Amino acid sequence: MNLEKLELRSFRNYEEAAIEFDPGVNLIVGDNAQGKTNLLEAIAYLGSGKSFRAQKTSEMVRFGADFAEIQGQIFAQERNQILRYLLFPGSRPRQIFRNGARKKSASELSGVLPTVLFCPEDLLILKMGSSQRRRFGDLALCQLRPNYDAALTEYHRILDQKSRILKDRFENPAIAAILPEYNLRLCQVGALLISYRARFYEGLEKSAAKFHSQFSGGVENFRLEYKTVSTVTDPFAPVAKLTEQLLDHLQRHERAELETAQCLTGPHKDDFTVALNGIDLKAYGSQGQTRTSAISLKLAQRELMAREWGEEPVLLLDDVLSELDPGRQDFVLNQIVSGQVFITCCEPGRFTKLGKTIEIKQGNVI
Ligand code: ATP
Ligand code: MG
Repeated sequence: MNLEKLELRSFRNYEEAAIEFDPGVNLIVGDNAQGKTNLLEAIAYLGSGKSFRAQKTSEMVRFGADFAEIQGQIFAQERNQILRYLLFPGSRPRQIFRNGARKKSASELSGVLPTVLFCPEDLLILKMGSSQRRRFGDLALCQLRPNYDAALTEYHRILDQKSRILKDRFENPAIAAILPEYNLRLCQVGALLISYRARFYEGLEKSAAKFHSQFSGGVENFRLEYKTVSTVTDPFAPVAKLTEQLLDHLQRHERAELETAQCLTGPHKDDFTVALNGIDLKAYGSQGQTRTSAISLKLAQRELMAREWGEEPVLLLDDVLSELDPGRQDFVLNQIVSGQVFITCCEPGRFTKLGKTIEIKQGNVI
């Protein structure tokens, strides 16, 4: 899919703009606070009906304006399509249109313009705590596999209930009798999650290793390892076997769970590690290696989505260029040859051989 043209009216700091894009790389340059991220936000919102930065829809309406309009002309699913959003200040609900017809919800537009966003916070995902990496994996897997999404919701529901039982037990000891039932269900659903994750991370590693090798000029060998509950000997094993192994681990930690009133074991603690040339990235990786590995993971996620849907999601890279050394900048600007890419950057003088450069000044395209 490909965003051919974007029109904005009273969106953030844009009063009125109509921008035509390249089907390849679009480099968006401008000083700080000129509207570069706002432009990416408009594109992502058009595709998903969700903003990655606004708490409330009304924040996106230009100060003092009666409404904001985002309209995009997209070539997707082998035809031209027009998506249009009207946003209002205050609490008046937004209006959504596809090819001129009013739609009730953004989910009716799904698949027309999927996007993958990469922002500066994502650069550090491999250095941060495991919850950030789980979030990354879960978000990607939920998009790829609706059944995983359902299982994950179910898992967290049971986990919440179990936590409550563990806490209530101090006041009402009899309640502990229902724990085994919850533990069994938790392990059954947990086993399913592990099964999905093992396959996802296997595909992700293959693809990310390819990107990372290109990124580093063939110098760095990228390995990703999925980490789950220690009693699981093979995460690709049948779900029944995984369930047994999860139950085994739970039993070993039953006492500790009762004492601390916390759910201590299960795939809600999963993680993954990355090693470059056999050296653990989290402990030893340089800034540049950490950042490039994170971009390789995002590019891999996009490739898995493209394989699944037959069309490449639009890639939005906000502010990541200046954090990379020249060789790696060249890779981002000139070597991501598949699909449409939007890259924002503050430094003038950058250019891409694969598309066009768009300069933004105070909400205007120059
Ligand atoms: P940087 O390089 O610092 O990331 P940027 O070009 O990405 O800058 P944006 O975040 O796109 O900048 O734009 C920020 C500007 O948009 C700010 O000056 C902000 O005040 C303005 N802005 C945000 N929301 C609105 C709004 N609803 N109405 C008018 N202006 C707004
Ligand atoms: Mg910005």
